[in-house]
Amino acid sequence: MNKNEDRVIVAGAGPVGLVAAVSLVEAGIPVTILEASSDLAVDLRASTFHPPTLDYLEKLGLADGLIERGIKCPYWQFRDRKDGEVATFDLGLLKNETAHPYRLQAEQWKLTEAARKRLDEDPTATLITDITVSSVVQDADGVNVTAKRNDGSDEVFRCAYLIGADGARSVVRKETGVNFPGLTIPEIFLSLSTPFRYDQAIEGLADICYISDPEEWFVLLRTPTLWRVLFPTDPTLSDEAILDPARIEERMQSVLPGAPYEIAHKTAYRVHERVADAYVHGRIFLAGDAAHLNNPLGGMGMNGGIHDAVNLADKLTQVWSGGDIDLMGRYERQRRKVAIETVQAQALRNRAILNETDPAKRAAYHNELRATVDDPAKHLAYVMKSSMIQSLRDLEAVA
Ligand SMILES: Cc1cc2nc3c(=O)[nH]c(=O)nc-3n(C[C@H](O)[C@H](O)[C@H](O)COP(=O)(O)OP(=O)(O)OC[C@H]3O[C@@H](n4cnc5c(N)ncnc54)[C@H](O)[C@@H]3O)c2cc1C
Repeated sequence: MNKNEDRVIVAGAGPVGLVAAVSLVEAGIPVTILEASSDLAVDLRASTFHPPTLDYLEKLGLADGLIERGIKCPYWQFRDRKDGEVATFDLGLLKNETAHPYRLQAEQWKLTEAARKRLDEDPTATLITDITVSSVVQDADGVNVTAKRNDGSDEVFRCAYLIGADGARSVVRKETGVNFPGLTIPEIFLSLSTPFRYDQAIEGLADICYISDPEEWFVLLRTPTLWRVLFPTDPTLSDEAILDPARIEERMQSVLPGAPYEIAHKTAYRVHERVADAYVHGRIFLAGDAAHLNNPLGGMGMNGGIHDAVNLADKLTQVWSGGDIDLMGRYERQRRKVAIETVQAQALRNRAILNETDPAKRAAYHNELRATVDDPAKHLAYVMKSSMIQSLRDLEAVA
């Protein structure tokens, strides 16, 4: 092997790229990560880690610090804005299925920070920031990755394999010509964070709540320092109108009337439901948001991406040690199936339940959720699915 080809390049130092990098380095494979930003993102994005994700992170030595810095949430709820609790799901039922029978509420940057620390300590890992992958060309032996420095100069890196973990607008995906079909959800999601303690103000409130309402559903999520409130918002409004402080205050008052709310962060973002037609393109592989996007209801986007990273690294390690590159086809078959049949299907169903305006259909959804938690076998099956454990078990059967 040419000395420039003795490594894997990862485009993008988000949670998915960094978990892939740590997994490869753990397997003795040298990695270079190219990151466009000058530092890792520390904004408030995903904040839920599901049980099997924590099981994976534990194997990589990344779970302990994260768990210490997060909140363990063994329960999550569906509620109705007027009637209160509809169903409370108990992740404690998963105690025989996972070492982490709870959702961990922790900001995703706490994971990327821990992963970077791990990579900094390893001489076979190199993280280069302020460098943007701009084009990709592969041949029979490797991949040439051209990246632009901040001063406008180009640099060409050579690697044996390239992982495109460069997020929703992935240049790597575009360079491979792989299609990214799907739809854009007809609403903008407004995410607001406040130090207000909803847990102290609403009796029986779980730390993760999906609250349905025929006029305006919303989500309440606790993080270690703040509560997040997520609202769907009319996409025809300008960002300025959506983020207008008076309108935000009105919406916060509609959740719980009281003193004016302190807003620590606010973001409005468009949500897509898309899955790439292919995850494997010769020596180039896609993972995470570069490969699939979904709405955040259920917290499965980042978690699914981390599951991609672990699966991909496992197969690539076998290829690196002499296995046939066709092994990577199984990565694509397994993880595309999960993205379409589990993540998208569940996220769309969660949205449908919250969005439902027909009173009879709303009542039917709510009755179904109540019946599910009242039946131990159905309750266990539901949390196996919503915690993403079932998707990982099912993919073993995918050849
Ligand atoms: C504003 C916002 C809010 C969100 N909120 C939630 C939420 O509430 N719940 C939830 O579950 N999910 C949420 N998400 C989604 C979640 O953050 C993603 O699913 C997760 O970050 C995916 O990780 P990733 O590593 O695949 O991609 P990313 O985290 O996007 O990381 C990609 C990395 O690649 C870098 N990059 C991009 N292009 C290039 C290039 N050409 N060359 C080199 N580097 C490049 C980027 O700078 C970035 O660091 C949110 C996303 C956004 C943007």
